[in-house]
Amino acid sequence: MSAEPAMLKFEDFTPTPAFVPPVGASPAAAEAFRRVTVDDKRIINSKADVNQLVPFKYKWAWEKYLSACANHWMPQEINMSRDIGLWKDPTGLTEDERRVVKRNLGFFVTADSLAANNIVLGTYRHITAPECRQYLLRQAFEEAIHTHAYQYIVESLDLDESEIFNAYHEIPSIREKDEFLIPFIDILTDPAFKTGTPQSDQDLLKSLIVFSCLMEGLFFYVGFAQILALGRQNKMTGAAEQYMYILRDESMHCNFGIDLVNQIKLENPQLWTPVFREELNGLFRRAVELEYRYAEDTMPRGVLGLNAPMFKEYLRFIANRRCQQIGLDTLYPGAANPFPWMSEMIDLKKERNFFETRVIEYQTGGALNWE
Ligand code: FE
Repeated sequence: MSAEPAMLKFEDFTPTPAFVPPVGASPAAAEAFRRVTVDDKRIINSKADVNQLVPFKYKWAWEKYLSACANHWMPQEINMSRDIGLWKDPTGLTEDERRVVKRNLGFFVTADSLAANNIVLGTYRHITAPECRQYLLRQAFEEAIHTHAYQYIVESLDLDESEIFNAYHEIPSIREKDEFLIPFIDILTDPAFKTGTPQSDQDLLKSLIVFSCLMEGLFFYVGFAQILALGRQNKMTGAAEQYMYILRDESMHCNFGIDLVNQIKLENPQLWTPVFREELNGLFRRAVELEYRYAEDTMPRGVLGLNAPMFKEYLRFIANRRCQQIGLDTLYPGAANPFPWMSEMIDLKKERNFFETRVIEYQTGGALNWE
């Protein structure tokens, strides 16, 4: 029978002094003990500890995180009873208006899942600035809220769920947009993909540009304009109010992505080659074509005072703006904005009660009970 080992006392432990390199440590070992400074932080390929949010370097990212949290909303806050009444009324909407709503939901019910997967399984791993990761975490939750919002509209209107959720397989104008995007998601979500070479850094940058400028910044805009045009005519006002909140979130996603792209360019100017810029311009042209095809498919005739040719101009206007925002040559000289009211909606503030459908307020601080 062996004796019990003597109980160790607290005093027996020698605490490791924090951040003090051992005497005689090599420069590499000493470096490992050094505290993180802002100069160590980089958007990609950083050697700094990704767990240390502060010291802040990218304040724009932290500010967007705070703004996004301040804009919090949930779909079930919005009363859908008027929309339900209108949808059930055989004379409430025209066939073309119903087509707009169904195509719209058909694209969006899966689009934000693609966006969420792209962030969580792809982008997040490759971005090494903790401030930017913090925003991406918030953005990922917002994508979940958006998918929830579209699902809530589908459920409220009692639409054929299977038809709507399969539209991205079955409706060519939707499928083509997703097929354009998916390779840019797949490359980032491949477990073998790593940044750190000129090629892989350009691949990441290209995916970020496709997502922020072309998906969130272009592919969403025909749909947003259509549903908001319905709301402006006092139709489907609950759905339109949800889209207004989504538009506000998405315009911040787009702007965050553009800031991210521009910061990566600043830190890695060697990536921005003429050949790369030419390739990007080609992607912009293709995206405008695909979104225009979607506009034609969703509006075979004029509807709600809108028609597909108006969107040709609008998409060119938006594409020019996105090019300017990331420092690419613009592609469509002279394209003007036929929908100035959309710009006003993008700048909206949450406090406004757009269509007076909002039914609940947040219960901050009232819901916790420790007993
Ligand atoms: Fe988004």
